[in-house]
Amino acid sequence: MEYINPILIFACLKEQLLNRLKQVEGCNCHERVRVTLIVAFIIWIRKEVFWTFAIGHFALGYLFGKGSSKLAHVKVNLPLLFAASVLPDVDLLLRFLMHRGPTHSILTITVLMLPFFFVYRKQAIPYFAALLSHILIGDFFTGGIQLFWPLSHSTFGALNFGVTSMPVAITEIALFLLTVPIMYKLGDLKTLLKPNNKNWALIVPLGAVLGPLFSLGRGQEGSLPILLIAPSLFYISLFAYAILIWLRAGYLKHLRVNKLIYRNLSFEKGNCGDKKSGNN
Ligand SMILES: [Zn+2]
Repeated sequence: MEYINPILIFACLKEQLLNRLKQVEGCNCHERVRVTLIVAFIIWIRKEVFWTFAIGHFALGYLFGKGSSKLAHVKVNLPLLFAASVLPDVDLLLRFLMHRGPTHSILTITVLMLPFFFVYRKQAIPYFAALLSHILIGDFFTGGIQLFWPLSHSTFGALNFGVTSMPVAITEIALFLLTVPIMYKLGDLKTLLKPNNKNWALIVPLGAVLGPLFSLGRGQEGSLPILLIAPSLFYISLFAYAILIWLRAGYLKHLRVNKLIYRNLSFEKGNCGDKKSGNN
């Protein structure tokens, strides 16, 4: 099947412009400057812009997780949902695992989710949907995955846009612009900013946006493209704030417990003192 490969289009365009640059080399005219600038822009845009990152996975995980929770009539925990949406990419940090290999297999994910289905029944559906959205949509159309590992080591995918393609970058930003208003409308942004004993799980999605920002991880997905800095900073602020209020709530609880223990000990001491003075 033939498909439009944006990488090839850009490569051809760059080639044509470089040829044009050779033709105009002799003359000292604006054309030479213009062509040079266009070539520089194409090189930059291919290098910096067209990568797919956690921003798209968050949106897909949220939309599919939230949608399936409505269909199954179950409540969904947002920190766990965001964590599930990027969890397969843990292989970017685990050097002994092939990226988009075992952690992106539908068999691995299904087997690992079975105990959760056994314990939590249909409450596990939204998290399973978020995991599937990562492998079957987010990564399936951007280079493919080892879908049936360990039965098959072949890479399965469709359209083959590649992680550096224009449609992926546009889709990722469009999904971000679509998801945030929905999250606001449904009150989920507010929920995330409230103390929740599962906010610790946001360490996973926070790492997924912080990693590329500091060029951790592997390959192209290890560095953050310029166009995705603003959405990444939005999620970093959101997740970091939610984690801080979780830590603060834990610290306040610890203080309250200590105060209670101290009060009980003082009360017991007082009672002992009373008994002793009574005996005297
Ligand atoms: Zn992935």
